[in-house]
Amino acid sequence: MTNATAASDVRVRFCPSPTGNPHVGLVRTALFNWAYARHTGGTMVFRIEDTDAARDSEESYQQLLDAMRWLGLDWDEGPEVGGPHAPYRQSERTEIYADVARRLLESGHAYRCYCTAEELDKRREAARRENRPSGYDGACRDLTPEQVAAYEAEGRTSIVRFRMPDEPITFTDLVRGELTFAPEHVSDYGIVRANGAALYTLVNPVDDALMEITHVLRGEDLLSSTPRQIALYRALAELGVGAGHTPVFAHLPYVMGEGNKKLSKRDPESSLNLYRERGFLPEGLLNYLSLLGWSISEDRDIFSVDELVAAFDVRDVNANPARFDLKKCEAINATHLRELPVADFAAACAPWLQAPYAPWSPENFDQAGFDALAPLAQTRLTVLSDITANVDFLFLDEPVEDQKSWQKAMKPGADALLRTAGEKLALSGWTADELKAAVLAAGEEHGLKLGKAQAPVRVAVTGRTVGLPLFESLEVLGRERTLARIDAALAKLSG
Ligand code: GLU
Ligand code: ZN
Repeated sequence: MTNATAASDVRVRFCPSPTGNPHVGLVRTALFNWAYARHTGGTMVFRIEDTDAARDSEESYQQLLDAMRWLGLDWDEGPEVGGPHAPYRQSERTEIYADVARRLLESGHAYRCYCTAEELDKRREAARRENRPSGYDGACRDLTPEQVAAYEAEGRTSIVRFRMPDEPITFTDLVRGELTFAPEHVSDYGIVRANGAALYTLVNPVDDALMEITHVLRGEDLLSSTPRQIALYRALAELGVGAGHTPVFAHLPYVMGEGNKKLSKRDPESSLNLYRERGFLPEGLLNYLSLLGWSISEDRDIFSVDELVAAFDVRDVNANPARFDLKKCEAINATHLRELPVADFAAACAPWLQAPYAPWSPENFDQAGFDALAPLAQTRLTVLSDITANVDFLFLDEPVEDQKSWQKAMKPGADALLRTAGEKLALSGWTADELKAAVLAAGEEHGLKLGKAQAPVRVAVTGRTVGLPLFESLEVLGRERTLARIDAALAKLSG
């Protein structure tokens, strides 16, 4: 998959930390990077930021890879495919970071800070009380060798801090335009822990530099770290680490959930696994997620991944917060379901026709019966997992018992109607049209319109008040089983 023939110099990266389950915010970031790489003919780098041993997990790493594969977001460099800047897992690059940290210290771009957490807290509080900026105050910026020796003699440990320049940092964000950060608001920051472990603040820009990343597309929550990173890229360029240029930034807008709060990874509707289990199509989900901050045109919100790639330019991303609307996400998925060739739709249903989803015994499953129902189901499903309840009447020995449906449909008089319907169905030809005529005639005898007459029949046969078109369903179920279920319902009603 290595993109040896990349048609442009654009190099983007998707660089999640493997903590927890993949969530929709992460997928939106991956998607925009991927779409931009594919749109420009550039290169998609997938990097794993696993420098926090306490929080990272192998399981989460595997889930990330699995999620990307399921979504169809392929990468040109990264885990399992390799590439010229391998390894792409930061846990395997510790020596690189140690070396860069050493060079930053030697060149004076970074320094050792011996302040204890308590000292920092105290000074921060004091600064707040006096309305001064509360970032690091630079106490260790210019320690003399004697001061350092004294601290070391005391047995203090030190972290490495990056020295921010004293002038403002200005950059043009592709989404937000020109931004300027004053030096008093961006203080010197830690890049290596006291135990020698490099922090995200160091390894992320170092790898961007080494991997020659040209465009950084990421969530707006990271905007405040951008001036720090830009200063670090410049220092790296001076030291000859990496490509020597600072990437262009594009900060993707916040995604808001219920009640106008930022969608959090802990919100249930943000879990990617949930969408997979419910049976969203990758196409449908990607279509919806691409609308979180972007649009293909004013009057259109349904499109394929290919159309997205053809149209996507990060410059068109909107800076305003985007609203996550589950209903709309479902509606878009439903549209994609309808657009599948019916054979593809039927194939996509397969996981939900088996354990652990299917309540019937596997030997009861009948492919021809399912294939007959599939076109009926295709126009009605929102998500693929809905298929199970729509077809279970065909594969269960007896229909499910749904108390609510039963109470709703089996009102006084239902037994008389069912008896007549059973008699007429027994004599009817077995096509949907003839079955409909039979139930219609039964209804007429009892002064009921078709809708009212068919409700008890539907509940007797499928167990539920809602489902696929009834007469087509009966046609597939067959005479014998249909009549037996009506008899069983009558016995239950009289019992
Ligand atoms: N590993 C970082 C995160 O998960 C990536 C940030 C970035 O894209 O620069 O937030
Ligand atoms: Zn200090």
